Amino acid sequence: MKRFIVFAVALTVACSAVVAQKIPHSVKTYNEATARRTEIILPQVKGYNCYKGDFHIHTSYSDGSVNPAGRVVEAWLDGLDVIAITDHYEGRSGERRFFKVIAPYFNGGEPLKYQSAGKAKSVKADFNAIHQEAVDQVEKSGYPMLLIKGCEMARGADTHGHFNALFLQDLNGLYDADLEVAFKRVKEQGGIIIHNHPAWKRKTSDKTEFHERVYSLGLIDGVEVVNGYTFYPHIVRRCIDEGLTMFGNTDEHGTTAHRFRQNGNLRTMTIIFAKELTEKAIKDAILKRRTIAYSGGYLIGEESWLIEFLNAAVDCRLTAVKEKNEHIYMLTNQSSIPLRLRRGRTIYELEPFKPILVSFGKDKEGVEATKPLYTVDNMWVADYKHPKVEIEIDK
Ligand SMILES: [Zn+2]
Ligand SMILES: [Zn+2]
Repeated sequence: MKRFIVFAVALTVACSAVVAQKIPHSVKTYNEATARRTEIILPQVKGYNCYKGDFHIHTSYSDGSVNPAGRVVEAWLDGLDVIAITDHYEGRSGERRFFKVIAPYFNGGEPLKYQSAGKAKSVKADFNAIHQEAVDQVEKSGYPMLLIKGCEMARGADTHGHFNALFLQDLNGLYDADLEVAFKRVKEQGGIIIHNHPAWKRKTSDKTEFHERVYSLGLIDGVEVVNGYTFYPHIVRRCIDEGLTMFGNTDEHGTTAHRFRQNGNLRTMTIIFAKELTEKAIKDAILKRRTIAYSGGYLIGEESWLIEFLNAAVDCRLTAVKEKNEHIYMLTNQSSIPLRLRRGRTIYELEPFKPILVSFGKDKEGVEATKPLYTVDNMWVADYKHPKVEIEIDK
């Protein structure tokens, strides 16, 4: 009996201990640290890798709503490889708001006066520190991402417009009331300049007097053929005729989730054909104009690069030759970007990684009728045209 009582007591103690152990006070329902990136798979083109970049992004330090660290995380999850944070040099409403909030704690309670760079004729912010916040986030996260140091210089839309200065060493001290002088300071640092949203707040994308001058002086290296979801068809021709690089940038001020992902789109980007993800290789590719732009399902660029891209992305196999000259091809889009091909009035939607079988030549004579020759409806080349591409067979 005594042994039974000892056993019963021991059992009760053990059970209550087990119960106490079994109910933890906090339990994780999900591992939030493993947020998944949208990987954008693109082919190798002419021996180059396709890197995905956005060279025009704002943070809460100018007039955006996300801080630099948030921009890095966002770009990583969106599938990008290289970004430039390009806060406005002249007008930074974010700082002004911040000044308003902290004003009671300084200057004996007197409101602090905020002066933008433009009005003060000197920079009152440390732009390098903005870039450094993004660099710190890349290092903290361990993302294999490249950050380019840059800023946006903005003056009146009708006369000057907006320009991004990229690949800089020191962002402070670039300002000058004369924008042309500021451009020359960018060039002294080995930086490049791109003309942003060329028809913004204007009815035309034609050059102004200021543009004529700075373009002819060789100060402009590239132009945004697309900014966010706005495409500037005339700019494709300008880039080809004047040897300028085409860019597709978001100019994001809000969140890309809201603007792109929630609309079911990949983010607007510049696709860069480069050997490796280093500042030198990316800059070299940009200066040699090895880019195409992507926006809202469209690819925009020089015809030769678009054709190379399409042929690298699409695997085309002749699967059967039947009676009456009928040729059957299997087409597989091996990239993450859907392609919309057209032959006559027939449309062929090439969704990523979903092969389709197509038939050509039946009851028609000659080799021409059997060729996989298409107009690519979701590509734009110069003069607001779609390219015609003959797809390489069994490559
Ligand atoms: Zn702008
Ligand atoms: Zn901007």
